[in-house]
Amino acid sequence: MRAKRNQSIETICIHGKDLRRAVDNTGAVSFPIYQTAAYAHPAVGESTGYDYSRLQNPTREETERIVADLEEGIDALAFSSGMAAITTCFELFKPNDHLIVTDDLYGGTIRLLEHVSKKNALEISYADTSQSDHIISNIKDNTVAIYIETPTNPMMKVTDIAKAAKIAREKGILLIVDNTFLTPYFQKPLLLGADIVVHSGTKYLCGHNDTIAGFLVTNQDVISEKLRFLIKTTGGGLSPFDSWLLLRGMKTLALRMEKHQQNAISIAHFLKEHKKVAQVYYIGLSEHPSYEIQNRQGSGYGGMLSFRVNSEKTAKQVLQRVRLIQFAESLGGTESLITYPIYQTHADVVEEKRKEQGIDECLLRISVGIENEMELIADLNQALG
Ligand SMILES: *Cc1c(COP(=O)(O)O)cnc(C)c1O
Repeated sequence: MRAKRNQSIETICIHGKDLRRAVDNTGAVSFPIYQTAAYAHPAVGESTGYDYSRLQNPTREETERIVADLEEGIDALAFSSGMAAITTCFELFKPNDHLIVTDDLYGGTIRLLEHVSKKNALEISYADTSQSDHIISNIKDNTVAIYIETPTNPMMKVTDIAKAAKIAREKGILLIVDNTFLTPYFQKPLLLGADIVVHSGTKYLCGHNDTIAGFLVTNQDVISEKLRFLIKTTGGGLSPFDSWLLLRGMKTLALRMEKHQQNAISIAHFLKEHKKVAQVYYIGLSEHPSYEIQNRQGSGYGGMLSFRVNSEKTAKQVLQRVRLIQFAESLGGTESLITYPIYQTHADVVEEKRKEQGIDECLLRISVGIENEMELIADLNQALG
């Protein structure tokens, strides 16, 4: 293997850091899809390094190599979904271990914690991790990890990753960061002191609203070894074809993220001025309470924003009237999608908790796509009325 070089991120998206060429003797420029379950052995006691695709598959490994390089990790593991990745990550823990988690998490992660992790006797504390003293005050003798999302969904609260990492290091516990929203293009948690990065690869990494995938990335051998054992044992690995779709999607990550962000900034400014909009939650607005922290820990703000309209009637009208923007769950793809968190992503969250966080009938969330900026604004303008 050639020495790794310091490539820029646009190049890493396409080639990784190791500019190896010619995976086979055809010179194929696009990495092949190794659609095989098993691999033949040359002789007794000899192996090609490949035995069975639950354990190893060249297409999956190529995808993992690119993601590890993008996140500045030593290893990345590709899973069949973001939830499969997170579930496997939690298998690092044992009964009576205590986790501190962001209170404004992805709804599916809350469901996993409430209905699976608790059954497995993990102890969970929800905390406003954007306040570091809330992390500290929740630490107990049996705390083993801090699990954060930043920015959060849908309220766009920012946690200071380096501060959380310092707390984790001092206590000898893990810091796990779900980096789905900003991607390594804008934020690299491992460089800020995190131990594990989580991704729903379904979102920006794949980027085209057409594949479900997930990743765990680490910069530590011990963690990598444990996770490799777990993926082999629990079997959540990404299929060869979906691995290839991820490879294909990631080639344009840099271009897409720039355009998602450019469109999001314009839409945030448009919404801010609209008389039917009460508040805009976007980390790229200078009035966002964590704008300074975000500028310190990332190189951009991404394409996700939420906004509060003046009434439930307006919210429903917007969802009914949008034409270019589609009323659908999910995020991070080329198509702009608008969601109603109270009835979709956060329907499983108990009302009291939702209210506490400001997720009500007036709140809408947009995953800003890469369509024409003025046409997106025109669509929102006619929908708001
Ligand atoms: C979508 C999402 C997940 C779950 O990923 P899937 O690929 O849908 O299983 C986890 N975290 C965040 C922040 C997400 O947006």
